Amino acid sequence: MKYIFITGGVVSSLGKGLTSGALGALLETRNLTVRIQKFDPYLNVDPGTMSPFQHGEVYVLDDGAETDLDLGHYERFTHGKLSRFNNLTSGQVYEHVLQKERRGDYLGKTVQVIPHVTNEIKDRIRAAGEGVDVLITEIGGTVGDIEGLPFLEALRQFALEAGRENVLFVHVTLLPYLKAAGELKTKPSQQSVAKLREIGIQPDILVCRTEHPMTEDMRQKLSLFCNVEYKAVIEEMDVPHSIYELPVILAAEGMDKLVVDRLQIKSKDADMAQWNDIVRRIVEPQAGECKIAVVGKYIDLQDAYKSIYESLTHAGIGNDCKVKVVRVDSEMIESEGPEKYLAGIDGILIPGGFGDRGIEGKIIAAKYARENKIPYFGICLGMQIAVIEYARNVLGLADANSAEFDDKTKHPVIDLMDEQKLITDKGATMRLGSYECELAEGSKALAAYAQKSIRERHRHRYEYNNAFRKQLIDGGLKVGGINPKRDLVEIVEVEDHPWMVGVQFHPEFLSKPSKPHPLFCAFVGEALKKSKR
Ligand code: GLN
Repeated sequence: MKYIFITGGVVSSLGKGLTSGALGALLETRNLTVRIQKFDPYLNVDPGTMSPFQHGEVYVLDDGAETDLDLGHYERFTHGKLSRFNNLTSGQVYEHVLQKERRGDYLGKTVQVIPHVTNEIKDRIRAAGEGVDVLITEIGGTVGDIEGLPFLEALRQFALEAGRENVLFVHVTLLPYLKAAGELKTKPSQQSVAKLREIGIQPDILVCRTEHPMTEDMRQKLSLFCNVEYKAVIEEMDVPHSIYELPVILAAEGMDKLVVDRLQIKSKDADMAQWNDIVRRIVEPQAGECKIAVVGKYIDLQDAYKSIYESLTHAGIGNDCKVKVVRVDSEMIESEGPEKYLAGIDGILIPGGFGDRGIEGKIIAAKYARENKIPYFGICLGMQIAVIEYARNVLGLADANSAEFDDKTKHPVIDLMDEQKLITDKGATMRLGSYECELAEGSKALAAYAQKSIRERHRHRYEYNNAFRKQLIDGGLKVGGINPKRDLVEIVEVEDHPWMVGVQFHPEFLSKPSKPHPLFCAFVGEALKKSKR
């Protein structure tokens, strides 16, 4: 077993998650099995209850764990199966330690950060690494944060126990560019490494995030002051077009070779054919371009719909076309009408969401897509919106709504699931994780997946209301798939429309650049057709 620990220096948002994912991808091209996990020093038990303003997207795994969005990068870049054990927060560590303390498991001892909290963290590293060649663990936050200290201390201890030849420390750091001086500065990185060495961690590899190329001099300087071998000072420039260039860029810097040499792993050379093809399809697509509007309420936030944007890029790779994403604020549609924002668009996607802000604008957007025969993809809330819109404007049930937004409506076409009715806690209490769905004969979903039974990940409290099923179907809103065990409608499709599909699940959590999701591919394929009409 080999372990790679990735820490960050100087500032947050350096792209440590991407670097971890890309390194994992590179090691997989050498036929190694890789798993990646994240440690988050905050005290929330998981990010499930955090607002998109705080945290960006909540990424859901097969087992229903609500995790940090970096796990999305890990799953997109690599093939390792992730579970709730691959995202550890301080909240979970303390929760567990305190449960043990209450049970009396510590046999009267004083319970302390060292060794009890650090032991808990080390156990998690060992458990997560079982069965793979390399475990990559990313530590959230920045070196120097008080809350990150127990994690770093645990890594130091772990390296001592596992043997230094089995552990590699990678420090991702920033070289700020000073415009007035016209140069990159290395001092913050030197200080950040000094901080790490203070607690007994000597990085083996320094990954330098920079907007400009480093000079020879700088590499020498960083090597000398940070006590890192010259060739282990890696330049990681901002990617020119796409994050999926990163494995190729790191390979060119020799990072994979460095890692396997240091960890004494025998493996074949990296085979970059697939990543080169992915990059080619993004940078020079052959099949044209389509414009997709994502209609949401967090359009200014880079990370709120992360997996949706990534899945659209993957569908572009699948169709060999460019997907131009236009972010549309549903509240603007509410106040100014759809025409200004949606005219000339080739496809409309409404992502998941909670709460009633911006809902009416989304319903207007769905109506616009239906009436103008624009391909429409509704995801979770976006599916519920399509059902509400259809009930109101086609069936004539003017007050149709979701009970989430109007609990007095006579036509709750979307209603709270029975099992949710008595729940009051907010954390981890939704319908979460992977469920089976059986696709209907003749449905657009079946055409896209080309298989009868699928599994997709869920995260919601409300559900298509079967009391209106017959009425909706008779009116032309077909059922594209059901959960066979519980007879829940998971997919709806407008009959008289080129491609208007709503899904109660989150397909964006299963899409990868190397394996674009069938529904996203079909949606973008339809949008591409429309762009050529
Ligand atoms: N708010 C809706 C529900 O809870 C949709 C959730 C979502 O889009 N993830 O059912």
